[in-house]
Amino acid sequence: MKLISPNNDVTLSIIVPVYNEVQMLPTFHHEVLKTLATLPNETFELVYVNDGSKDSSWLCMQSLSCPLSHCKIRCINLSRNFGKEAAMTAGLDHATGQAIIFLDADLQDPPELIPQMLEKWREGFDVVNMKRKQRVGESAFKKFSAFLYYRLLTRLSDVELQQDVGDFRLLSRRVVEAIKKLPERNRYMKGILSWPGFVQTTLSFDRQARVAGETKWSFLQLVGLGLSGITSFSVKPLRLATWAGGLVSLSAFCYAMFVVFKTLFIGESVAGYPTMMLVILMLGGLQLLAIGVVGEYIARIFTESKGRPIYIVMDNEVKVAQEQAVGELNHG
Ligand code: UDP
Ligand code: MG
Repeated sequence: MKLISPNNDVTLSIIVPVYNEVQMLPTFHHEVLKTLATLPNETFELVYVNDGSKDSSWLCMQSLSCPLSHCKIRCINLSRNFGKEAAMTAGLDHATGQAIIFLDADLQDPPELIPQMLEKWREGFDVVNMKRKQRVGESAFKKFSAFLYYRLLTRLSDVELQQDVGDFRLLSRRVVEAIKKLPERNRYMKGILSWPGFVQTTLSFDRQARVAGETKWSFLQLVGLGLSGITSFSVKPLRLATWAGGLVSLSAFCYAMFVVFKTLFIGESVAGYPTMMLVILMLGGLQLLAIGVVGEYIARIFTESKGRPIYIVMDNEVKVAQEQAVGELNHG
């Protein structure tokens, strides 16, 4: 069995974003350690990122035990809730492993698959995508909207995105380094994780229902995330607005010609209030839509141009086996 000290490198870092998961953390920790115990010849680092939880997740995280000598635990406390994507970025920046895996704290992504993912990485793959075959315990509406959204996004996006692959995946060190170079503040992770490319493979799994607690995403937040995904990785909606504008202008021109000829050859007739209203409303709607699309992109430019940090770390602690004392503590 390999031994580990607070500062040396590890084979695999497991990054776990945590927001109000105090109910889940002990069970999750136990389950992960159970899997890691079956791999005594590798070294691990569990990177828990507390994303400004309102409950006692941080205290719970600090009290998690570290019984395996080939595994260390790093706990990062962000100064407030920055969102899952920022928490994942914080994890990436602090992970020291030769490969990393993102894992949700609610056990929806089964830790039992870690050995298989590691095996694929050992075979030489840089990215192991985990494709959801089934989503257990999610509403039909969520399943259907996810199905539609993934397909729309792959159509629109300029980057090749994997369908039905969430954040649960393994990345090799060189992919992590490539991702760390992406400076954008709008962290649409599904896009960012796919952007570097490299040698990819995909495994399938059944996504389980949440063991405890509830999902942190409301419907409106999901719509926001969806829009952010599209506008961060595609300029096609802008082009769509141009095309729609062009098409409407062309039809208006044809109709104008028709009216002119009709007046010249048949004579004038006063009618057409409904058609007039229809045209006004349709044009108004299209214009508002186009302004909205442009606005979305300006909003992106606005947040990017401020150049604020993606997250702020308040505490950062490392724990290794035996030595239960805190190895490294910095408040900043
Ligand atoms: N999460 C987070 N910050 C947030 C929201 C969620 O770190 O602002 C974490 C959460 O604790 C969990 C993971 O992200 O570990 C996935 O969240 P959730 O289960 O709510 O998402 P879903 O599975 O419903 O997509
Ligand atoms: Mg979940």
